Amino acid sequence: MVEEMIEIYQPTIDEKTRLKIKPNQFKVSGDGVFFSLQGEGQSIGKPAVFLRLHFCNLQCSWCDTRYTWDRSISQFWQEAQDWSIEQAVAKITRFPVRRLIVTGGEPLLQQRNVANLLQQMPDWDVEIETTGTIEPLPELQERVQFNVSPKLENSGNLRVARYRSQALRILNGLPATSFKFVVQSPADFGEIDEVVRDTPLDQSKIIIMPEGSTHEEVRKHGLAVVEEVKSRGWRLMPRLHVELWGAERGV
Ligand code: SF4
Repeated sequence: MVEEMIEIYQPTIDEKTRLKIKPNQFKVSGDGVFFSLQGEGQSIGKPAVFLRLHFCNLQCSWCDTRYTWDRSISQFWQEAQDWSIEQAVAKITRFPVRRLIVTGGEPLLQQRNVANLLQQMPDWDVEIETTGTIEPLPELQERVQFNVSPKLENSGNLRVARYRSQALRILNGLPATSFKFVVQSPADFGEIDEVVRDTPLDQSKIIIMPEGSTHEEVRKHGLAVVEEVKSRGWRLMPRLHVELWGAERGV
């Protein structure tokens, strides 16, 4: 049997330099800003402007935005852009809605800049997609709807990296937070039960979302966990953007 060679991209010196964080500048991924529908969670279906930030503190095996963090692929090095707060405001406010979703990667790695951005947009509804591993700044806690997606063992991340109980407790205490667990099979629910018990999580905030980047995968994983969701009284929700656009980027 011939083993497949995994090609690891070798960045140039210029590309490495471009990845350095600059004061008061966002490091934005190649998707930048785009206008679409919220594809997941409690605001599913709502039109919103998305800001996709670069970098993540986790490495999920099934991640569909690897270009935000995976150093072995060229897009990670070549697509990142530096935007000032003013540039970000100008690009976000071109669209006819007042809902912003800050996503990534892990947007809270750049939360000081996010807080500065939101000061310029006082009349906007704002959501942040996060893994729940970083405690949000107080000014974000007051203002933002956090869509928290705590990662499970099925993500391939070590527990020490993916589980931060203090951050989860803070997020659980905020009224607009929801917790979205990405599942593949009933075997994932033992770990979710543990997180719920240990935090303890408000179970009315729990959403279960089947993993998958195709309609078939999402359906298969969804059907596999229906009974687990029913028996706990939680919610099972689809991935709208996968239904509509599959794995396409920037939509
Ligand atoms: S936390 Fe999100 S962005 Fe980061 S690796 Fe996992 S799926 Fe990808």
